[in-house]
Amino acid sequence: MRGVVFLGDRKLEIREFPDPRPGSDEVLLAMKASGMCGSDLHFYRATGGATASLGLGSAEPVIAGHEPCGVVLERGAGVSEKEAPTGRRVMVHHYKGCGVCKHCRVGWSQLCASGIVVYGATGHGGHAPYMTVPASTLVPLDDALSFEEGAAISCGTGTAYGALKRLDVSGRDTLAVFGQGPVGLSATMLGRAMGARVIALDVVPERRKLASEFGAEIVLDPGQTDPVKALRNLTHGEGVDVAIECSSHPDARTAAVRCVRTWGRVAYVGEGGTVTLDVSKDLLRRQVTLIGSWTFSATGQEECARFIADRKVPLGKLLTHRFTLDEAAGAYQLFDTQTTGKGVILFA
Ligand SMILES: [Zn+2]
Ligand SMILES: [Zn+2]
Repeated sequence: MRGVVFLGDRKLEIREFPDPRPGSDEVLLAMKASGMCGSDLHFYRATGGATASLGLGSAEPVIAGHEPCGVVLERGAGVSEKEAPTGRRVMVHHYKGCGVCKHCRVGWSQLCASGIVVYGATGHGGHAPYMTVPASTLVPLDDALSFEEGAAISCGTGTAYGALKRLDVSGRDTLAVFGQGPVGLSATMLGRAMGARVIALDVVPERRKLASEFGAEIVLDPGQTDPVKALRNLTHGEGVDVAIECSSHPDARTAAVRCVRTWGRVAYVGEGGTVTLDVSKDLLRRQVTLIGSWTFSATGQEECARFIADRKVPLGKLLTHRFTLDEAAGAYQLFDTQTTGKGVILFA
């Protein structure tokens, strides 16, 4: 079969791989949709050997794509019918840990201290027509959701949900979402569905337009207005209840902390880079809760999918660009420069 490999330096190749066979505890999936996530651009742009340069080991090139969604085609000898019925529509919780430590056992395998496989980064991912994964990584996909929505939930959208859940966002909150890429737009959509009043921030006009369509009551351009002042003005001078930072920009990180009210809550979701804070003034004196939030558990992924299906969250609208496997090079080139909406690779 053919699979997409990131070579680093903005190069990718479609290479020939042997057709995968499921090991004893594994299933063979027929891929239906494989999302393009913001973090894929880090691998795509990395200089000198994509994943190795990011400290993720593996000098051997692997198939990209960490938002896989498809159907169960075949089971290994050790996998029961109940665990993975043939034909079941599934997402993949895209990490494999040791399976027995306390983190693995509660579904947070990405926190496993014994070392993890990240599918699409250190293990073969979803940018290929077939994929093998342990049956334990499968997350059922609600019939009401499309495969491409399942792909989005498998990283970007699930990440937004995971952070909002940890922030305990509700209809009592005014929520500021910094950055309206696929994760931020998901946070806008989901925050609205959780009942919050959402204020979305981004410097790109097209992204602000999407944010309005997805339920943001107000959109702000932090390039034009001081976001902290603007957010205070919109909240009786107090600041927002909750902020989530999805852009990774250092100024946005600082603003996300400063824009919340006393006792406010903040989550950092954007990957990489640094931030400067005046700890006493920005955090301590105002009793601010600041968390870092990395993706979600396997059961959290299922919960996110249920929430989206039950609340009829218009997640499909987030998927603005659809590609075939053969179009992968052009797809990543496009998202390297134009950054509105989300792309997905679809399989017949
Ligand atoms: Zn473990
Ligand atoms: Zn991702």
